[in-house]
Amino acid sequence: MKITNVRVLQLEGRPRSGLALYEIARGGRAAGEATPHRWTFTEIETDEGLVGLTHGGSADVKAAGRLLIGEDPTRIEYLWEKLYGTLRPNVRPVALLDLALWDLLGKIENKPVYKLLGGPTRERIPAYAAMLGFSTEPEAAARASVEYIQKGFSAVKWYLPCNALDGKAGIERNVALIRAVREAVGPDVWIMVDWLLSNPRANSVLYAIELARRLEPFNPTWIEEPLPFDDLDSHVKLARSTRIPLAFGEHFYTRWQIKQILDSGAATVIQPDPNAAGGITEMRRIAALASTYGVILVPHANESSRNALHLLFAQPSSTCPLAEWGVRINHDVQYFWKDFYGPKDGYFELPNGPGFGYELDPEKIVSQVEL
Ligand SMILES: [Mg+2]
Repeated sequence: MKITNVRVLQLEGRPRSGLALYEIARGGRAAGEATPHRWTFTEIETDEGLVGLTHGGSADVKAAGRLLIGEDPTRIEYLWEKLYGTLRPNVRPVALLDLALWDLLGKIENKPVYKLLGGPTRERIPAYAAMLGFSTEPEAAARASVEYIQKGFSAVKWYLPCNALDGKAGIERNVALIRAVREAVGPDVWIMVDWLLSNPRANSVLYAIELARRLEPFNPTWIEEPLPFDDLDSHVKLARSTRIPLAFGEHFYTRWQIKQILDSGAATVIQPDPNAAGGITEMRRIAALASTYGVILVPHANESSRNALHLLFAQPSSTCPLAEWGVRINHDVQYFWKDFYGPKDGYFELPNGPGFGYELDPEKIVSQVEL
């Protein structure tokens, strides 16, 4: 079998509705603004008619795909080296093409990807509800948390609205959000606190230490992305100054960048994304590193949620005990799939195959452009 073509498709669907709409302004859109679903997808075609597919793509990916033409798609390790050796430090096209190759291999072997990776290690994986796009007003957040606990989740992640530029009043707003959620859900629910949306580039380590200490009474499971991404020394100082574990790494790519985080000792949880860090091939190496360094791997996964779950179902629960579930964003990013894959009663069950088990639904495509 030979690869004959790589296509990148930009799809537009109907306007977003329901949980696909955000209650907060985000990404240049006003709260509740109903723009159409719009996503790109990458397809790897073969001379035997099988097609590998993944969410994401760009003109860069289309150009990188030329490196695959004429190659045997089952030689994934060789192809990863060929792509990365040519494209580094631009990892994203490598990641997306690698994901499409794993989907294709699953279709060739007629198996789900988690089986190709040696899984399953378990029948289900707990999900945590990432409340991106929900109102962060304390009362509304408390109500939404209770609603999702009643749906079976035992962990919720909230996004702080304020950073250091918002001063003392911002600290009080942040604390009020997490206090309200803790009071609503009781002591047994995990609460993760993500600082990313408030733009942590503005945060000094002194600010981060002060805010972390104010959050400690509410017993967060972790604080996420609290500081400028590359400033590992500040992460180390923060980790030494609070008893709350740190989670970060979604902006780090490849095993070599992740190793810098691990060597710093600041992270308890690392969060690279299959779409960005190098695909399944590289994420498998990163999982081995996480295990070696005694940290937990919880992939950042929005567009790549289903890809990540296949990896996690082939990793031990000690290294990968839970998975992220973007409650609202998945109603947007999964729009073009024929089926919707999400947790049931707070747990992900084994995903279907072959490959990653997803398929585009032609009925949802209003218009399409090939890049
Ligand atoms: Mg994150």
